[in-house]
Amino acid sequence: MLIQQRVSDTELNVTRQEQAELERLILEHDRIAQRFTRPRQMIYLFVRRAGNQGVGAYVLLEALKTYSPNARPATVYRALDYLLRLGLVVKIDSQSKFFARSPHSSQRLCLFMVCSGCGSVHEFIDPFCEKKIEDSVLGAGRVIDKKAIEISVLCEMCHPVAGQRTP
Ligand SMILES: [Zn+2]
Repeated sequence: MLIQQRVSDTELNVTRQEQAELERLILEHDRIAQRFTRPRQMIYLFVRRAGNQGVGAYVLLEALKTYSPNARPATVYRALDYLLRLGLVVKIDSQSKFFARSPHSSQRLCLFMVCSGCGSVHEFIDPFCEKKIEDSVLGAGRVIDKKAIEISVLCEMCHPVAGQRTP
């Protein structure tokens, strides 16, 4: 039954790498993956394909409609909610866009460097920063709700000098 729900190789021209990624996610998330339905897989692929530029919910709906003409906004929002809960995508509020997280960062507190020039987003893990913030939050008797910190930057394309500095 699960196999029928998977996005087929021919649909969307799913690449071998994308297919492998979907298979990996289905294995990894095991029980939950039974609800990794076809629209959810498609939305995930669309977000992944948007790369560092990310994609908004409206564009996702239009993309989904190409394959499922009856798709409704609720389909997209439910898929996004699901993907957000699994930590596979993140919503960058300052851009109102969704980005695919890298495979091994989904449960970690990451910095998302958002370029205020071109809108590109880069995910970055800083173990020191992560630990410090987690400790501060726990110390204050709170728990982290969204494991993503947005920071406004200028990328090397938008601010060439920044790219020339040694780290
Ligand atoms: Zn930029």
